[in-house]
Amino acid sequence: MSVRVVARIRPLLDKELDKDIIVKPDSAESGKPYTIVKIPNPKNEAEDFSFAFNSVYDQSTSQETLFTSEVAPHVKSLFQGYDVTIFAYGVTGTGKTHTMRGGLKLAERGVIPRLLSSVFRRGKKIMKDTEGNTTVRVALSYYEIYNDKVFDLLEPPEKRTPSGLPLRAEASGKTVVAGLSERACEDLKDFEKLYIEANNNRVTAATKLNAHSSRSHAILRVKLTQTTGDAVRESTASAIDLAGSEDNRRTDNGKERLIESAAINKSLFVLSQCIEAISRGDKRIPYRESKMTRILSLGQNNGITIMILNLAPMKSYHLDTLSSLNVSSRAKRI
Ligand code: ADP
Ligand code: MG
Repeated sequence: MSVRVVARIRPLLDKELDKDIIVKPDSAESGKPYTIVKIPNPKNEAEDFSFAFNSVYDQSTSQETLFTSEVAPHVKSLFQGYDVTIFAYGVTGTGKTHTMRGGLKLAERGVIPRLLSSVFRRGKKIMKDTEGNTTVRVALSYYEIYNDKVFDLLEPPEKRTPSGLPLRAEASGKTVVAGLSERACEDLKDFEKLYIEANNNRVTAATKLNAHSSRSHAILRVKLTQTTGDAVRESTASAIDLAGSEDNRRTDNGKERLIESAAINKSLFVLSQCIEAISRGDKRIPYRESKMTRILSLGQNNGITIMILNLAPMKSYHLDTLSSLNVSSRAKRI
């Protein structure tokens, strides 16, 4: 079981070019790759706080570089039967969706389409190399967790029940989402059609619930099944665009928002506790304490977890950025 916690600092957008940059990458030793994020102490701006990561990606990092460095190496492990879980964590507006989904242009594609593309390519190669003795199948599920309720994104919003889908404990001890749909996917075209449709479900449904997508966790599950004769090997890649980590109570104290904030804060807190426990090598990981970590069985197998902390560089995000740096486990202040 392994975990990597990395940070990605986004560039200023065109409309932000007049803003102060206060979040900066740094190296432990000059000439070495970035592993540190520096940010001023808001109470004494002459002083910097430093946070350590496994790796830090600066504003010039392309989608391809991030994927090649952090995700591509684990595709092989996925085919060997290990589960791979990738989170994008951070304040709303810092680049979580950009990192996971990305843009439509080839170069702008995020982790998710690149992962799928890589899985399809490898799957086809295995089938060719084994002359069809091994079959590789890919099936997708896509759901969101909003206010601690699970909603299927592969189903139209009209089919949602207010209470969401129930969880069920299986004999193996695993928790599954009862009634979650699963669609077979043959290639990237198939995937993209499904993914665009499902993301539209997210937006439509969210508007009806009078909420914004930044208040829910979106979880894509890629189930890989490799069959050779009687032998079946199953593994799962999960890619999660998390709800915004900002403290919503500070900006809006309506009742709805308070309920949302409580649910978001709790699940992000449990998630960070799990990541911390895994990185310490603890036996006991508090994954049962939130719905998301329970469904993901976080840290319950010998899988690989990658947490990408997205950061905006500007001063206007100062306090939220500092709190997300503080929370993201391994990113301990040093
Ligand atoms: P979040 O999902 O965390 O709320 P978004 O992914 O929507 O944030 O990003 C906010 C804005 O910043 C979007 O316009 C997005 O295109 C842009 N952006 C984020 N990261 C980058 C990046 N690395 N390079 C260029 N633009 C980015
Ligand atoms: Mg987003």
